[in-house]
Amino acid sequence: MKIEMAVPKFELTLPSTGEKIKFRPFVMREEKLLLFASEANGDAEVIGAVDEIVRNCTFNAVSVDTHPVFDLIYVFLQIRAKSVGELVEFFLVCGDCGHKTDATLDITKLEVKKNPDHKTTIMLSDTVGIKMRYPRLSETVGASRGDIDFIYATVINCMDSIFTEDEVYHAKDLQWNEKAEFLDGLTAEQFEKIQEFFDTMPKLTHTMEYVCPKCQKQNVASLDGLLSFFD
Ligand SMILES: [Zn+2]
Repeated sequence: MKIEMAVPKFELTLPSTGEKIKFRPFVMREEKLLLFASEANGDAEVIGAVDEIVRNCTFNAVSVDTHPVFDLIYVFLQIRAKSVGELVEFFLVCGDCGHKTDATLDITKLEVKKNPDHKTTIMLSDTVGIKMRYPRLSETVGASRGDIDFIYATVINCMDSIFTEDEVYHAKDLQWNEKAEFLDGLTAEQFEKIQEFFDTMPKLTHTMEYVCPKCQKQNVASLDGLLSFFD
């Protein structure tokens, strides 16, 4: 026996492209998947569950492998808002005295913030430049952020093309070690320009200012990344 249930549909605007896509809330099967993944407590399980839910609920318009992290988190939170509620309850910890204050956040109010100075095409010299693409969720977890191997791997994963005055080299046609050698040949200043791409890319963040009721200290709390929205 299979009885089809009518699931409501909603629409959202993808932060990266402004494209409108349809989505539905998650159903019990998917909610169980998410609970199971957060209990398993591994990044791979959580990413797998988020991927399946986002694919199912956007009718395959969005996935972990095809969309930048900020799109994915935004879409996931919109789905969550329509599935289990728009308000998330959590607590803020005072930076001074450690006192915990209850807080509520309306996740539909979260926005992807864009930096006006951000560029996806970066000139490394007068004639040589690099075009970048945004990291996928699976490319942002793993080693600690300061680790040079991790930074290199992220840059290599996110290369779209390298160009000179008369040639364009598509990253997908280059070997990993060719890309690593290209990076090895850059000056620190040139490499920094590439890192700026990551520092200024669109981000889904939210900052909350509040005064600790116990010690009266002014606190600024920022919610960042995917995992902080799961707690
Ligand atoms: Zn305090």
